[in-house]
Amino acid sequence: MALSRRRSPSYTGNKPANHSASRGHPAARPSPRGGRILVKGVDLAVNTLQAFKHSLLGLLNIPGVSGREELIRLALWNRLIHIADELFVDHAGNLCAAVPCGEGPTVLLSAHMDLYEELAEGRQIVQEGHLLRSTAGILGADDRAGIAVILEVARTIRRTRFAGTLKLAFTVREEIGLVGSRQLDPRFMTDIDAAVVADRRGTRDIVTSYAGRIPFCPASYGQLFERAGALAGMPDWKTTAGGSSDAGVYAQQFGIPSVNLSVGYRNEHTELETVDCAAAFETAVLIGTALHHRLITGGDKAGAWLHG
Ligand SMILES: [Zn+2]
Repeated sequence: MALSRRRSPSYTGNKPANHSASRGHPAARPSPRGGRILVKGVDLAVNTLQAFKHSLLGLLNIPGVSGREELIRLALWNRLIHIADELFVDHAGNLCAAVPCGEGPTVLLSAHMDLYEELAEGRQIVQEGHLLRSTAGILGADDRAGIAVILEVARTIRRTRFAGTLKLAFTVREEIGLVGSRQLDPRFMTDIDAAVVADRRGTRDIVTSYAGRIPFCPASYGQLFERAGALAGMPDWKTTAGGSSDAGVYAQQFGIPSVNLSVGYRNEHTELETVDCAAAFETAVLIGTALHHRLITGGDKAGAWLHG
C-alpha cells in the first residue's frame, strides 16, 4: 500500500535562486560565517562540510540490515517531507520521492537503505580528520554515504539552475541481490530519463558498466560526469567498469542510462570499513554541478547502448 503526501502550496515559494555564478555548485560556496578550506583542489565551505558530516554520522548510527530497513526509512521520510512534493513507500518497502524543479528531464538519484550486516552492539564511530571508522563490525557507510550525498543534493537543488524533476529512490534489500530496485513501481520509473546511483567505493569513479560486459549507459552519459568534475575543479573523475549495483537494474530492467558514483567508502563489508566525509561531500558537489549546468538532457534514453 503506497502512502502519498503532497506538499502544501504555501511551500512552493521556494523558487530556484537566480545565479550569476557559472561554475561549481551552491553547496561548495562559502558561508557568510564560515572560512574556506581546500580539499583535493575543491574549495569547500567549512560549515557546509561540517553539516554534511553531522548528517552522515546521524545516518551511520541507524541500524537496518536487509529486510529490516524500517528505522532508516522513517528517518529519511522525516527529512524528505520538508523537501519533496511527492513521497511514498512502495509495496516492496522502497522509499520514493519527487522534487519538481520546472520543465526538463527527470533524473533519478538512488542509494540503498540496507546494511550488509547489523551494526555491532555498543560500537563507536571514531573520527580522524575527515575519515570515519567503527570500533567494531562494519561502519555502514555502504551505503549510508550514498544516502547522505543524495540528501545533500536534494536539500540544495532548488538553489541551482536545474530545470526538471528530481526523483529519489532509497531501495531495500540491495545487499541480498538487488531485490528492492527490481520491484520499483514501473509507473514511478516510466518518465525517468537518466539515473545516478551513489554506491561505489573509493573516490572519483564513474561506473558505466558491470565488469565492462553489461553497459549501464552510452559513453556520452558517463562522460558528462567527467565534464561536471572538470567544471567543479575535480578533473580526475573518470569513467570505469565496476561491480553489481542498482545501476544495473535501472539500465537493464528499466532501460534508463545510469552511472554509479564513488561516495568515499572503502573496505566495505569488513571491520576495516572507512569513509572519507570530504570525498562523499565532493560527490554531492559533482552531482549538483551536473544538474546546475543542465548537462543531463535525457537524450540518451532507450538508445542502442542497452544491448551493446
Ligand atoms: Zn552498497
